[in-house]
Amino acid sequence: MKYKAFGMTGVGVPVIGQGTWNMPESGAALKEAQRALRRGIELGMVHIDTAEMYGAGRVEELVGETIRDIPREKLFIATKVLPSNATYRGTLNAAERSLSRLGCGYLDLYLLHWAGSHPLEETMRALEKLVEEGKTRFIGVSNFDTEEMLAAAAFLRRERLACNQVLYHLCERGIEHRLIPEARDRGIAIVAYTPFGRGSFLRSNRGREALERIGRKHGATVRQVALAFLTRSPGVFAIPKAARVEHVEENAGAAELELDASDLAAIDAAFPRGKPGPLASL
Ligand code: NAP
Repeated sequence: MKYKAFGMTGVGVPVIGQGTWNMPESGAALKEAQRALRRGIELGMVHIDTAEMYGAGRVEELVGETIRDIPREKLFIATKVLPSNATYRGTLNAAERSLSRLGCGYLDLYLLHWAGSHPLEETMRALEKLVEEGKTRFIGVSNFDTEEMLAAAAFLRRERLACNQVLYHLCERGIEHRLIPEARDRGIAIVAYTPFGRGSFLRSNRGREALERIGRKHGATVRQVALAFLTRSPGVFAIPKAARVEHVEENAGAAELELDASDLAAIDAAFPRGKPGPLASL
């Protein structure tokens, strides 16, 4: 696994982490998903992304169950507060509930899931309080466009905004115009969610063939090529979700893949960046 500095935190985080949205919650599929999560951790994919929203708290419990006997310091655990809970007191309480479901003592990263109707300044103050209390090491936001991200950062008094987790895949490259450069200048890590874009990147023949060609050249799969492209810049990470061991193994392999300038140009031609526009989200 390749690690790089998580923005200004300087902490080494794997370029490929693991998402948990829609993780199976029972039966054989759950057992396989838990095996997959553990296999990913063995392979160095120790950035585990979850949220109080996922399975209405059940996914945090399942993640907690899966990681129970893994030394805490080996993991980088991220979870998120729902905007509807994101008053000052509501954020503190939500973090306590997430910590108790995860059973992991402290969080590495706590994010506001998306901007809601509660004043952002209040949420940011609560996130800082959680750092002060040792409940989380770092704080950030998700689904924030450039101006909102800068506003969130400006509300912080003692801490720095560590991360903005946003939609980013080959058919949705809008963040490359402004969000990524502005985040990089400020040491804010960008975490790409839904990096496979629900399969959209394989739907056009031209795009798929370009990825297959690059894959053949490097002995890699199309998904590995896609993940390597998305994480090519410093400070940009991806968190694919995979509930099967073979998928996790394939995704982990992306970290070893180095694309050259001709690969990047071929991907650029097959999946144009498009015009600047508002931040896309799911
Ligand atoms: P994704 O990671 O782009 O795609 C997940 C799908 O791809 C699953 O069906 C998975 O199948 C399949 N897959 C994964 N690896 C594969 C492989 N190597 N070969 C074939 N299929 C593969 O989508 P996502 O779950 O939407 O996004 C990833 C994570 O980002 C989420 O789980 C969540 O943690 C986070 N997220 C955050 C937000 C936000 O608002 N902040 C929004 C969406 C997502 P299997 O499960 O069967 O392996």
